[in-house]
Amino acid sequence: MYLSKFYLPILKENPAEAQITSHRLMLRAGMIRQTAAGIYTWLPLGLRVLKRVEEIVRLEQNKIGAHEVLMSTIQPAELWRESGRFDAYGPEMLKFQDRHDRTMLYGPTNEEQITDIFRQTVQTYRDLPQILYHIQWKFRDEVRPRFGVMRGREFLMKDAYSFDVDRDGAVHAYNKMFIAYLRTFQKLGLTAVPMRADTGPIGGDHSHEFLVLADTGESEVFFDQKYLDGLNVDDELDVHDRICLQNKIDDLTSAYAVTDEKYVEEEFFERVDPDNRVRGRGIEVGHIFYFGTKYSDPMNARVQEAQGQQVPVHMGSYGIGVSRLVGAIIEAHHDDQGIKWPSSVSPFDLGIINLKRDHAQTTKLVEALYQSACNQGLDPLVDDTDERAGGKFAKFDLIGLPHQIIVGPRLAENNQVEWKERQSGKRSEMSLDEAMNRLAELAVL
Ligand code: ATP
Ligand code: MG
Repeated sequence: MYLSKFYLPILKENPAEAQITSHRLMLRAGMIRQTAAGIYTWLPLGLRVLKRVEEIVRLEQNKIGAHEVLMSTIQPAELWRESGRFDAYGPEMLKFQDRHDRTMLYGPTNEEQITDIFRQTVQTYRDLPQILYHIQWKFRDEVRPRFGVMRGREFLMKDAYSFDVDRDGAVHAYNKMFIAYLRTFQKLGLTAVPMRADTGPIGGDHSHEFLVLADTGESEVFFDQKYLDGLNVDDELDVHDRICLQNKIDDLTSAYAVTDEKYVEEEFFERVDPDNRVRGRGIEVGHIFYFGTKYSDPMNARVQEAQGQQVPVHMGSYGIGVSRLVGAIIEAHHDDQGIKWPSSVSPFDLGIINLKRDHAQTTKLVEALYQSACNQGLDPLVDDTDERAGGKFAKFDLIGLPHQIIVGPRLAENNQVEWKERQSGKRSEMSLDEAMNRLAELAVL
């Protein structure tokens, strides 16, 4: 892609309405524009990141055997009357009448809708277990939408729903999802700490929130530093081996970590070595929980179990804030100059900066690098504009691509270029051949 042709409306000034870094940088880097309070349009640069985050989330869901569906954004009120949540959900739900005076709503979540689909299509334990998910826009009329995409009113969520014939099956689904979440956040370049969450009498202890540590987080977190060490889960772990999986989860969750201040006083936290006690703030990027028959009971979603009895299906639901994650990644990866994308979600794989378009040798090297990158399946952004060098450097640091190849007349005359790593700030001069080799290395990653 050539910058001269791309749509990248950069803001030179800091927008006054942005209170936190990610919001400010997303507006400045031309990723989003606000349409109304808590409602955003994603511009090309932002949409590229959103799509990459979405794809990583999708792949990890598929890997544990979940199947993707796409439920509608609009739902009929009747479904929510059946579960009793139509009135209980409160003013966060956006309701309206259609032309036939039927009450409709813009889905804030989809438990009722998926339970309805399930009860129409599955009758026996033989068709279980099953996990269905979708990645769809939600609307919640938040009292205080703020921090840009972090707390929007319209936002993109991955929500999955598991169906099992009994509690044991449901716990296994929960455990698989737990691992899928750790892998997802790892691939996104994030440390997300799973925290026990309160679910009240129904969910028991099977509820965890996943929090990315950041000063701007809305939740307070308390945990044992040692907890972080165990969180890396490689792709080798076989999530279908129930015992092995349960052991891994027990191991992980035995460490001390909570989001609620009341636990701090508990003797449990007292037992954590004072040097290892961490108190901080976190951004909730995911929430998983097992809720048993909370919806299947009132909505009559039953299956026949092995002995022939009709039993309500055991369910869990599992959310990830896909659009919130874009903000959370920026909170975790930036400096004073701008964003530092992890390669896995970067809007382009690299930038190639042409410092003097009308210098033939410079443009020749830029073109050679561009063609080579494209041929190897990389997606480069070439700055072929007439802006002065300082402006170009500032722009590329702002938009945060992990690699920049800087090509200018002085080095180009000797067939050399400069390669800058955005993460470390490290710059090195090298021959065109060496830059080509580096591109080839990037392409196989
Ligand atoms: P919160 O406590 O932040 O309001 P929640 O408990 O309402 O979150 P869930 O209903 O569990 O959230 O939704 C699943 C995920 O969707 C959350 O973990 C979060 O990442 C994301 N999410 C929830 N509300 C919003 C919002 N208003 N804007 C952006 N993402 C959101
Ligand atoms: Mg909420």
